[in-house]
Amino acid sequence: MAISVFDLFKIGIGPSSSHTVGPMRAAATFAQALGEDGLLARVTRVEVRLYGSLSATGIGHATDRACLLGLMGQWPDRIDPHTIEPRIDQLMQEQCLMLDGRQPIDFNYTRDMLFLNENLAYHPNAMTLEALDGQGSLFSQTYYSVGGGFIVEQAEIDAPQAGGDQASLPYEFSSAAELLELCKVYGLSVSQLMMANERAWRSEAEIRDGLLKIWAAMRECVDNGLRNEGILPGGLKVKRRAARLHRSLQEVGKPNVIGSTLSAMEWVNLFALAVNEENAAGGRMVTAPTNGAAGIIPAVLHYYMKFNPEACDDDVVAFLLAAASVGILCKKNASISGAEVGCQGEVGSACSMAAAGLAEVLGATPPQLENAAEIALEHNLGLTCDPVGGLVQVPCIERNAIAAVKAINAVQMALRGDGEHFISLDRVIRTMRDTGADMHANYKETSRGGLAVAFVEC
Ligand code: SF4
Repeated sequence: MAISVFDLFKIGIGPSSSHTVGPMRAAATFAQALGEDGLLARVTRVEVRLYGSLSATGIGHATDRACLLGLMGQWPDRIDPHTIEPRIDQLMQEQCLMLDGRQPIDFNYTRDMLFLNENLAYHPNAMTLEALDGQGSLFSQTYYSVGGGFIVEQAEIDAPQAGGDQASLPYEFSSAAELLELCKVYGLSVSQLMMANERAWRSEAEIRDGLLKIWAAMRECVDNGLRNEGILPGGLKVKRRAARLHRSLQEVGKPNVIGSTLSAMEWVNLFALAVNEENAAGGRMVTAPTNGAAGIIPAVLHYYMKFNPEACDDDVVAFLLAAASVGILCKKNASISGAEVGCQGEVGSACSMAAAGLAEVLGATPPQLENAAEIALEHNLGLTCDPVGGLVQVPCIERNAIAAVKAINAVQMALRGDGEHFISLDRVIRTMRDTGADMHANYKETSRGGLAVAFVEC
C-alpha cells in the first residue's frame, strides 16, 4: 500500500488519532455508506461496539463522542471544535441522533454505546457499527483504527486486493536502505525523491499548497495553545502552562533564559506544550503522525523557522516531505500505534520524523539524515504507553517537549558525522516492532500499567 505525506499529516481534532480521529472517520464512513446503499431511511437505531484499547481508554480519549459525531456525518478535518460540546449535549438531552446529518434515530447511550472487555484478532483498536430496523440487523461493519487516524475495514482484510492505496510510485521504497540507494543512484535528496513520489497523486503546486496549509494549521494550533489557559478537561485537573511559559520567555532577564542554546530549548518546549495542550483540550490540530505525538514535528519546525532568518516556505515543504519518508518506514515496517507497540511507535516515530525533517533543511546528506532519524528513534525504544486516566495528558504532553529537544540533538550529532554509523535505521525500526510485540498489553494504551497505575496507587 502506498502512503502519502497527506496520510501522515492530517488536519483533525484532539485528543487522539487512533481513539478520536480514526473512530470518527469510521463512523462517518459508516453513515455515508448507509446513505449510498439507500438504507438510511430504514434505520431506527445504531449500535456501537468498542473493543480492546478503544474500550479500555475510550472515555478518556473521547472515542464515544467521536463515534457519535461521525454517525452525525461529521468529519474530523471539517468539524468546528467549538460546536462539539453543544452537539453532544443536545444529543444526550433529546436522545435523538441525526444519522448522516439527515435521518433522526433513537439514541440511548447505555443501550447503544457498548464498551466491551474483548479483543478482536486483527488489531487492539477495533469497533463494530451495526444499523438496525424494527426487524433486526440491516448492515454492520467492523473497523480497525490502526494509528494516525488510518482506518481499515474488515472487508479490506477479507479481500486485501480491494483495499489500500495502490498508486504506483516512481521511487518505491520499503526500507531506509532502499531509500538511500535510490537517492544515491538518481542524485536526489530525500525531499526531492518524496516530491517525485507525491506527484503520483497530485501536481507539485497542489502538494506545496497542501503542505503549506498543514503548516498553517500547525501554526494556528500553536497560537491557540499559547492563548488558551485554565485546566484541561477530563478530571485530572492538569493546568495548561504554555501561555504562562510564553509570557515568561518574553520577559527579558528572566533567570531561566541564560543563554541562546538553553533559551532556544525553552522555545522548543513551549511549542510542543502548546500543541499538546490544545490536543488534550480537543482542539484543532494536525496528526504528526498521531495526535498524542502531534507536538514534536511542529515544535522542531517552529524552532527552525524562528531561529533561522533565512527560513522560507520551501524549507517547510522539504521538512515535511523528508519527515514523511521516515513516517512511511515506521508505519510500513513497525507501527505508529501506541495500542500496538507502545509510545515508541507514536513519540518515537514522531521524534525520528522530526529529526529527518530538520536534517534535510539543515543540508544533511541522505546518509546523515538517516543517521539523525536512527539516533532519534533508537533512544525512544521501549517507551511504553501508560496515559494516566486514559487521557492524553500525563505523560504525553511533557513527553512531546522532551522528544522535540531529543530530535534536535540527534540532528546535531548526525551533522557532525559523515553518515556512517553502527546501527541502521532499518534495524532500529525492526527492533521497535519486535519490542512492541514483546511488550505486555498493560503498556499498550490500556491504562492498566506504568504511570497510569502508579498514579492511582498514590
Ligand atoms: S503515552 Fe504516548 S502513545 Fe500513549 S497516549 Fe500518550 S503520547 Fe500516545
